[in-house]
Amino acid sequence: MRNIMAVLGLMGLLMLGVSCAIAQPPDEAPVIEQPVTAQPELARTPTDTIYAFVFRLNAMNLRECAALVDGAKFSARVAQIEQQFKQQGDQLLWMVDEPRVEMIDENRARASVQTTLLTLQNGTVRKDVTLDWLQLRRVGGAWKLVSTAVKADENVTGSSLQEVVRFLVATEQTWNDARAKTCQMNMKQLCLGMFQLAQDSDGKFGVKNLQALQQPNNQFANLPIFAQAVMPYVKSMQIFRCPADSDKGKDLTSYSFNENLEGVSQNQLMNPAEIVLIYEGKDGKLEFRHGGKTTIGFADGHVKLVSEAEAKKLLWKP
Ligand SMILES: [Zn+2]
Repeated sequence: MRNIMAVLGLMGLLMLGVSCAIAQPPDEAPVIEQPVTAQPELARTPTDTIYAFVFRLNAMNLRECAALVDGAKFSARVAQIEQQFKQQGDQLLWMVDEPRVEMIDENRARASVQTTLLTLQNGTVRKDVTLDWLQLRRVGGAWKLVSTAVKADENVTGSSLQEVVRFLVATEQTWNDARAKTCQMNMKQLCLGMFQLAQDSDGKFGVKNLQALQQPNNQFANLPIFAQAVMPYVKSMQIFRCPADSDKGKDLTSYSFNENLEGVSQNQLMNPAEIVLIYEGKDGKLEFRHGGKTTIGFADGHVKLVSEAEAKKLLWKP
């Protein structure tokens, strides 16, 4: 007899966390993603990794669970979900039998393991047994669990380790998408700000030699030049920061103006839709913060996520 309501409730919490992340307005404090590294001493073999994962899951420590999953990261949102887990109390217990590990090659393995989930509900213990098929990959010195796609004939119950692994990665993917969207909205506003600035500068792009910068009461004097120039038009410091930018250094801005356009007249451009106006990164170096892609704002005002291969074809000079 299967009773997994509690687990489904738990997964519901996970889903809730995701929908909160999507509903988040772009002006809210950015979610700073913290990369996590598996502790090699816990994950020297595929079996170690599976046991360590179950141990951490039972301790409701999602940060260390995520560290054992390839492609998962511990973000402020996962921390929030972890908090909700803990508030639920100690009502779930995962147990595994000895995993049967089969090496695919030196760096990949698959394992079958019988997972038992004990759920304590109203003083009654319910038992849920699943045969888990797990995939693992060697990343650096540690073995990590790999999220696999749901098979057509698979009965998704929310009670297997593979499903928890999937949630940790899928959740992260959803957040990545939300962050990329916020980044693109930032870029859109920055481009509009640059356009207004150009209008006020005889139709020329540029961030230097602006009167506002020379004024003694310039209230933005501590910001990078690009931000100082655009700030009067966008009026929000928040949009200078990509939510996926984890650099905690002095730099308040995640974006830069393409200096090749300094002093260039807007209507002088033959192909504004192909020329970079604002990019993610600095000193002409792009930062690929969104799953190998970077946000580019073009001189006609349109914004696009660009892959590393596509970035090589970008036009930088008028
Ligand atoms: Zn970004």
